[in-house]
Parts: sequence; C-alpha cells; structure tokens
Amino acid sequence: MRTVTILIPCYNEEDSLPPLFERMNRLITSHLNDTIYSLLFVDDGSSDTTKKQIKKYSDSHPFADYIFLSRNFGKEKAMYAGICNVNTDALVIIDADLQDPPELIPNMIDLWKQGYDDVYARRRKRSGETVFKTLTSHWYYSLLQMISGIEIQEDTGDFRLLDRKCVDAMKELDESERNTKALFSWIGFKKIEFLYDRDPRVAGKSKWGITKLIRLAIDGITSFTTLPLHFATYLGILVSFSAIVYALVTLINTLSTGIKVPGYSSTLIVVLILGALQLLSLGIIGEYLGRIFTQTKNRPNYLIQEKELNNQINAGGNGSQSFNIKESSGKSVDI
Ligand code: UDP
Ligand code: MG
Repeated sequence: MRTVTILIPCYNEEDSLPPLFERMNRLITSHLNDTIYSLLFVDDGSSDTTKKQIKKYSDSHPFADYIFLSRNFGKEKAMYAGICNVNTDALVIIDADLQDPPELIPNMIDLWKQGYDDVYARRRKRSGETVFKTLTSHWYYSLLQMISGIEIQEDTGDFRLLDRKCVDAMKELDESERNTKALFSWIGFKKIEFLYDRDPRVAGKSKWGITKLIRLAIDGITSFTTLPLHFATYLGILVSFSAIVYALVTLINTLSTGIKVPGYSSTLIVVLILGALQLLSLGIIGEYLGRIFTQTKNRPNYLIQEKELNNQINAGGNGSQSFNIKESSGKSVDI
C-alpha cells in the first residue's frame, strides 16, 4: 500500500472549503484500492471560520490532519510547514480554492508509479485571470530562468506530486526567503509534466495583490542569483570609464578653448544619471543585505499553534524516525 498526503494551504478559505471537502471525500472514498490517502490542511492564520471548519472535518474524518500556524506567514511558508511534517510515500500540493481539480490526483499517482519523482501540472489555459497577470507572469519566468540559469517550469503552480525523496530534499531547504516553485526546479530528480485546464476560483478572491506579487518576484530573483549585484558592478565600471573619458574631453576642451558658461543642461543630465545609477546600485545591494539580515537571524520559518498529525507519525518506512528528527531540529516550534 502506498501512502499519499494531500497538502492544502488555506488562508481565509471559508467559502471554498465545503466544496473542497466534498470533492476530496469523493476522491478518497472512490480510489481506495492500493493507495492510502490522507489530507493535511495547513491553516495560514485565517481570521474567518476556516480553522473551525477544518477541525470539525478532521474530527469526523480520520484521514484529515491539520496544522494551524500562529499567524499568517504566507503561502510559501505554509507549504513548508506542511512539507516538514509529511512522512508518507508521496505528497500532493493543491490549492484550497479548487483552481486545481483534485480529480487529477489519481492520474498523477499513476505517473508516480511509473517511476517519476516530481509530477507537476502545467496550465493549458488560465481561465478567470486577467491578460495582465498572464503576460507579466510569462515575462517574469522568462527573466528568472534567463538570469538564474535554472530551468524553471513556466505556467506551473504548486500543484504537483512529490515522491518521498523530493519531500526529504525540500525539508532540507530551510532558507527564509522562499520561492518554492524555483526550489522544486533546484532539487532536480525525475520530473514529468502533464497539461491541465486551471479552473477559476470556486469562491472568495485571490490573496495575491500587486504588491505581494512584486515582492515575490524580487524574492525569486534575489534568492536564486547574485547577477543583479554583478550588474551593479559592471554598470559602475562602464559609467566610471565613460566619466573619465568625458572628464578628459572636457579638460582638453577647456584648456584649448577657454572656459565657456554654457553646459548647464549636459552637467545636470550627467549628475542626474549618475545619481540614479548610484541609488539603483545601493537598492540592489540593500535587497541582498536585507536577505542576509533575515537569514542570519535564523528564525524559524513558521510557528505552529495547534496540530493533529495522526496520519503522518507512523506512515511510510522510517516515517516516525524522521518525524522526530524534524521536531527536534528546531525548524518547527510548538507553542
Ligand atoms: N494562501 C495561503 N497563505 C497566504 C495566501 C494564500 O496559504 O498568505 C493559500 C490560499 O488559501 C490558497 C493558495 O494559497 O489555497 C493559493 O492562493 P490564491 O488562490 O490566493 O493564489 P492564486 O491562485 O491567485 O495564485
Ligand atoms: Mg487561487
């Protein structure tokens, strides 16, 4: 029997949960032949009835576990909290809003049985999403891929199945600035993609505002490459060289033709461009410095307020052992 955990990060999903429970129930009860499913809800500090609903559901369904984080840590860390506590043979990550159809999970499991370690879903079309979001996301991934040198799967979300090997690898990556999607690429292993149509949200609205998305984009780049720092250096060299040439030309000009008053606008332009470049370079350095600052504090990535992990402790081969190791490594702290 293979054990599979379905990890569901939830943040204020009270309206999505009832249809989600229903579809999960249907999936789990109709595919019990050689797979044991369990659900792991990670509540990311919801302020609505999400926690209450999850608890009630877990009380009446033995296959449902949960972790309640102490506050909203963001989806990346909510997923990490779940990953750290999974001890089954495989893990499926799926959004709570039913944009990713749970009915596809058995197909993902079939691919996993064929020997793939990372079965990830690639969107065929994005219904319910604006042209702006689709375009900017396309550009962002091309840019990230180009400058980080890592192959990042475009049009994929976090909807994927990971073999135990990948889950263990992900547990090791405890960095504080997380871009989980890029980390999935980084760990490698045998990957396969399948195409699917991403549905619109079943209820509620997306938690990704434009500022959160920009933050995520900057995090993605700065956590995977130091190229922007080199960019600042090269730009500095180029501008310094041009400045020396320009200074020489001006000096020779002044010496040969005497001091002329005109030149106000060219001086101003040079001052402004240099000022802007200096601020840009400082900003880039600041972004990295900030990340070093956060990482050196070595704070846990998440804090657990309450949890029930009945399906995780003895699952898998040496499951309980690695469960204990994780608990004592200080990555998750119980209050
Ligand atoms: N989510 C979370 N913490 C957050 C924001 C979102 O756990 O701070 C969860 C959310 O409940 C959902 C998933 O992450 O299950 C994807 O969120 P959303 O649908 O808002 O993102 P989108 O699909 O628009 O990218
Ligand atoms: Mg969504």
